[in-house]
Amino acid sequence: MRAEILAALREESGYISGQELCERFGVSRTAVWKSINQLKKQGYEIEAVTNKGYRIVSAPDLLNENELMSVQKTEWIGKKIYYYDVLDSTNIQAGRLAQEGADHGTLVVAGRQEAGKGRRGRGWESPADTGVFMTLILRPEIEPGNASMLTLVAALAVVKGIAALTQLKPLIKWPNDIVVNKKKVCGILTEMDAQIDYVNHIVVGIGINVQNREFPDEIDKIATSLYLECGRKTNRAALIEAVCEEFERYYEKYMETQDLSRIVEEYNHFLINFNQKVRILDPREPYEGIALGVTNRGELIVDTDGKRRLVSSGEVSVRGVYGYV
Ligand code: ATP
Repeated sequence: MRAEILAALREESGYISGQELCERFGVSRTAVWKSINQLKKQGYEIEAVTNKGYRIVSAPDLLNENELMSVQKTEWIGKKIYYYDVLDSTNIQAGRLAQEGADHGTLVVAGRQEAGKGRRGRGWESPADTGVFMTLILRPEIEPGNASMLTLVAALAVVKGIAALTQLKPLIKWPNDIVVNKKKVCGILTEMDAQIDYVNHIVVGIGINVQNREFPDEIDKIATSLYLECGRKTNRAALIEAVCEEFERYYEKYMETQDLSRIVEEYNHFLINFNQKVRILDPREPYEGIALGVTNRGELIVDTDGKRRLVSSGEVSVRGVYGYV
């Protein structure tokens, strides 16, 4: 009930009367009053005016299923949302839920992660109540070889989601990081459970630094948060909603062709590496070149002395010649 009342308050720009809430949800005045009080206890500022009704003045930066459901405007993502105060990793939990049969579009969110994951066994710093730690469960009918492009789809969704809620102009560091002022504000990790020719499920994990005011020494020089960059808090539930909405839009375009042909131009527009000198940390032999954008299949095009090489994200990392970008 609390989630429905919260959603109704949010939908209304002005006041909504207690009577209307009672009628809309078929509950008593006391039930409405109780829900409003519970919301106030959670930190919502709700104004109550005689003969007018209730109006939401401000919302705390809370994450829980109620909060997430009440801001939801998506079509198919998050019809089922699992929220946990603490998880090992949202990708791990999403994998478990997918094994148990969770539907396409299920959203897993955590308040903090104790073993947040980066690529190739690296970690993702995930302190309590500071970030967005979310994973989408997908069950697309695609060839397993096309799945890694979903990381790039998610990267575009995050760029647009952040831009919708802040004044920032985030860029993408190919393939899976989002940067602001050349520092990393978000990482994306796509993992797949598949047979040779059949995808069981894919989990797309997104970690965004939102309210962080500081970082551990090891990543202090490469990491930043939305708070540090814009000097004010961004509501995490609203950010999750914005990212999910954008993801739906880009995912649809991706599914039409099962590659990036309909979104690659936009991706390249946000690519921080575009026309920049990059260092490709290929485990066989590192090399340098100029990044010329990505292909319809999400490979990075690198010009090395006039010779074009296509780099797949799998086993390599990309750095700037003098640092992280
Ligand atoms: P690659 O270019 O291969 O993706 P990467 O260093 O960006 O390399 P990821 O797997 O994308 O690797 O991210 C994990 C790395 O990000 C960690 O090893 C650490 O250096 C850094 N990191 C960890 N937590 C955070 C965080 N909250 N914000 C920014 N950076 C982080």
